[in-house]
Amino acid sequence: MIYASRTKHLKPEGAYQVLAKANQLEANGREIIHFEIGQPDFETFPNIITAGIRALTTGFTRYTSPVGMYSLREVIAEDCGRRRNIFIKPNEVVVGPGAKPALFFSTLALIEPGDEVIYPNPGFPTYEAMIRLAGGVPVAMSLLEENNFSFDSESFDRMINKQTKLIILNSPSNPTGSVISQADLEHIAEKAIQFDCWVMSDEIYARFVYDGSVVPSIASIPGMQSRTILIDGFSKTFAMTGWRLGYGIMPKELAAKVGLLMMHSVGSTAEFTQYAGIEAILGSQKQVDETINEYQRRRDVIVTSLNTIPGFSCQIPQGAFYAFPNIKNTGLTSSILANLILEKAGVALLPGSSFGEFGEGYLRFSYATSIKNIELGIARIRDVLGN
Ligand code: PLP
Repeated sequence: MIYASRTKHLKPEGAYQVLAKANQLEANGREIIHFEIGQPDFETFPNIITAGIRALTTGFTRYTSPVGMYSLREVIAEDCGRRRNIFIKPNEVVVGPGAKPALFFSTLALIEPGDEVIYPNPGFPTYEAMIRLAGGVPVAMSLLEENNFSFDSESFDRMINKQTKLIILNSPSNPTGSVISQADLEHIAEKAIQFDCWVMSDEIYARFVYDGSVVPSIASIPGMQSRTILIDGFSKTFAMTGWRLGYGIMPKELAAKVGLLMMHSVGSTAEFTQYAGIEAILGSQKQVDETINEYQRRRDVIVTSLNTIPGFSCQIPQGAFYAFPNIKNTGLTSSILANLILEKAGVALLPGSSFGEFGEGYLRFSYATSIKNIELGIARIRDVLGN
């Protein structure tokens, strides 16, 4: 074999594959409506861009500490702690180029070959990839539509055992938009303590929650902060996907190990990006609130329209910016249907199967696009499926 066996299980993320295919069709002159990629369609807010430019022209173009600038970590610790009602110290914050490195390196720092890791399925594809790269055993926890895709305590209780080292949670969820309730988090916390496991709580969509509800964090449950890695970042909240800025909050001993992994891999996060991050947190939050209101309007439009397509039925997601309709009554697999819709309707979206086996029977629509596009895209799908 030429390549290391650890690369054997790696598969591309569906979003990048469908985006590439959609871009190819566009290059050939087709007009495509995009629901495939999970990134805000808004520009990064102007005050953040200004802060980034100011940092560049001031000469903040160097390496920083591998765990991030202390000034940014202080700001993150205060903001993230206040929002979850917990006390976070700057040395418990590890900043990286995106949330992905915080997810990946915390997993590498914790998982020994053979350790079991419970992760949500359907779920963000990076979880399974990083568990396998660390030599861990991925244990898929099914998220079921009958439980609003939230959390299935029965299957969880069957899966957790003394081999379980880590439990990964993602609330609000990609791809289902579901939020895990406080009662379910308390159940998970009790089991995590009983079996002495770590919890990785990916809260990157924590601000994307609708109808005035709040997203509870497992880190706020007494006894949990010392065994939780809380993941959040700037990509979604501040429309900063390309700036690459995210973070993990974890006990300082683990933060030191993750810092070493950062040091020997990415080196550090871009300095000017980190200055922009300080402005994102300390500046006005008005635009964040406005975009959340806009996402709620879009969610309402897309869910109502999806439910008018023959063979589709869609629950109302509570958070994130994804709708996850059930398409089982179309009689097609999710990847055949997604392909057909791309080719015949010129609408790009993701098959549920690209989020794991329990995603089969569903499609993921990212509604980070205008209401006009949503209405047009769904009308085109309805036309094609009607025929
Ligand atoms: N976690 C989830 C659930 C996501 O959906 C994403 C991005 O799609 C990420 C993490 C990665 O975010 P970042 O751009 O900060 O690396």
